[in-house]
Amino acid sequence: MRFASFNKSSIGARKRFERGRRLKEGQAADLGVSIGAKAEAGRLGSLTPHLNTMGLDNFPVPCPCGRHPKARRERDGCTHEKDEACPFKADNPPKGMIATCCSLRGNMAARELEALGERALEARMYSDMTAEEALNFAEELRREADRLEAKHQHDAERPKGAGWNGIWNESTKTCEWQSRSTFEKALAEIRLAARWYEKVGSLGYGVHAWY
Ligand SMILES: [Zn+2]
Ligand SMILES: [Zn+2]
Repeated sequence: MRFASFNKSSIGARKRFERGRRLKEGQAADLGVSIGAKAEAGRLGSLTPHLNTMGLDNFPVPCPCGRHPKARRERDGCTHEKDEACPFKADNPPKGMIATCCSLRGNMAARELEALGERALEARMYSDMTAEEALNFAEELRREADRLEAKHQHDAERPKGAGWNGIWNESTKTCEWQSRSTFEKALAEIRLAARWYEKVGSLGYGVHAWY
């Protein structure tokens, strides 16, 4: 999808829309289930398709501190010219529907952090950051992934990561996950996000969280 609409006013409008939507959704929002998908699930009963989340996308934006040599236009959500190689290509971070080649589908790592009880780090993924903050945040994510790994390395049963492909159960009013990330997968997702934040920061970009 083209990214031409990435500008301040459309971000504001989208945020207001999303916020309103979340308020209406109530509990479903806590589960990461959209109201439309929930209604659809009710209509289709047991033939339910997977429920989707709008979730979170993170984009590199020029750092406002003014100490970085290269500053591209913010609306691009991209760290390089079109004819230049994308520095994120080799890492292959997860991409959302409104993705640019340099963006991160932050929803993935955020939900893994949530599942592992890292609510403060999860919340930070929904914040805009300067390049300096992005570099610090990358360190924090990595440190926490290392800490969790060490803490659970001898556990017979390791914690599970996020649930995926939720199906709304109307009678119990709960979302039943069809699959769960393993602990290893959850850590890998968090470390992938850490690498993304680190690269964004080291390229002199901050982060815009779009949700
Ligand atoms: Zn800066
Ligand atoms: Zn790129």
